[in-house]
Amino acid sequence: MHAERFLDTARWGGLAYISDWQETLAGTINVTDPANGNVLASVGLCGAADVSRAAKQARAAQKDWARTPPSRRAAILNRAADLLEQHGAELASWITQESGSIHSKAMIEIEHGALFIRHAASLALQPTGMFLPGMDDRTNYARRVPHGVVGVISPFNFPLVLSLRSIAAAIALGNTVVHKPDPRTPISGGIIIARIFEEAGLPKGVLHVLPGGADPGEALCSDPNIAMVSFTGSARGGAKVGEVCGRHLKRVQLELGGKNALIILDDADLDIAASNAAWGAFLHQGQICMATGLILVDEKIEQGITERLVAKAQHLPAGDPSTNRVALGPIISDTQVETIQKIVDDAVAKGARLLAGGTHEGHFYAATVLSGVKPGMLAFEEEIFGPVACIVSFDTDEQAVELANRSEYGLAAGVISANLGRAVTLGDQLNVGQLHINDQTVNGGPYAPFGGRGKSGNGTRVGGPADIEEFTQWQWVSMKSAATPYPF
Ligand code: NAD
Repeated sequence: MHAERFLDTARWGGLAYISDWQETLAGTINVTDPANGNVLASVGLCGAADVSRAAKQARAAQKDWARTPPSRRAAILNRAADLLEQHGAELASWITQESGSIHSKAMIEIEHGALFIRHAASLALQPTGMFLPGMDDRTNYARRVPHGVVGVISPFNFPLVLSLRSIAAAIALGNTVVHKPDPRTPISGGIIIARIFEEAGLPKGVLHVLPGGADPGEALCSDPNIAMVSFTGSARGGAKVGEVCGRHLKRVQLELGGKNALIILDDADLDIAASNAAWGAFLHQGQICMATGLILVDEKIEQGITERLVAKAQHLPAGDPSTNRVALGPIISDTQVETIQKIVDDAVAKGARLLAGGTHEGHFYAATVLSGVKPGMLAFEEEIFGPVACIVSFDTDEQAVELANRSEYGLAAGVISANLGRAVTLGDQLNVGQLHINDQTVNGGPYAPFGGRGKSGNGTRVGGPADIEEFTQWQWVSMKSAATPYPF
């Protein structure tokens, strides 16, 4: 199937990566292609006992890894990035098949994955501390030190990038990692990562990849050898992870869902604005945390935007991205298709107009446009994770802000206007972690601190300058030239 066979199943089929390719105690799981149900491979399924085993090995390896010269850590990371790019075409085809990604989205994962690793490599070479003023003649300094073992839990939708962005930064800064990818995407979210780091010469014990579901995930959160958990997933999963980590006094980073508004003001170019809305709502079938979940349009241009969006939706083909040139691939599961349908039906029952799509064949959900979406409809309130453009009209900029800020989430927003000052004034009032002026909501990359407010997270960020803050902690060191006596 794969010409170069970097990811030869003979090496990892049926196995997990616990210091090395190993059988797991919980058996195996078949990985299927959501476009056609074909079994692609099997991997080792991990349970709590496997997590415990991996965490012990990770802890044992951590001190040596933290003492490894930063230049060597950076060199290994850069080699892993090279390998990801070198084998990009082969690896992207696994992403396409396993997660239902169109080719260009799979290639974005390869490109961004490599960028995240290179960014992490640069973190290893940053200054790590500062000298402090003191109250006597001792020397005081503060330095950033790794937490120890970091547990990473990632979702199915951008499996490679969302796993790598935490794993690479944690490792670069001297932590070791126990990683649990989503059991539906363990290859793109885990096996690829284990293989590139294995081949790049990462010492044994530094990275462990344990495919599995919520049970091993919760085991990571309670394991005494794991100091921090970096979680990307739903608000529901994140609340549970936060609760278990809290009980065990563990540091936790929560990167959760979103209901992201794109606000289109009345002076916007209609063709460009509609194209932004379509990209934000339909890319990867809308299965993106920062997908454009609400398209807030000034009522003066609502008709023009709606007509353009409907025309686009009707011309975006859905199908198997491995065999056809399509714009939309499959939705990840039956359950998710049912959720999308329920939200669309609820909107229509409550008075929204269904102008395109609203139907599916198996896992292929048609690009859908709903207009007249209002508060009280599930389509207004909830993250859909499907290709549904929800148009909401407003009559003043103040009302647009009010509608956008109603959401309990606060991940990303976009504002499109020909008047930059007006767009910035409006954008400044939005309660979000990412604000994009004259762009839609789907944006990300290694140099930006990414995260959300409200139900979108717990105020942590991943990427850019946030990584050192997140994946290390302060240690204060004071030093006297000799010990001195106290009154006791
Ligand atoms: P999910 O929460 O069900 O699963 C995500 C991961 O968490 C998976 O690995 C899953 O096995 C694990 N998990 C689930 N329950 C758990 C528990 N109780 N304890 C430990 N681990 C558990 O999420 P999903 O629905 O599969 O993924 C989509 C969600 O992820 C959406 O809400 C999306 O917005 C969000 N997401 C957020 C970001 C971000 O950066 N903010 C990025 C991508 C996706």
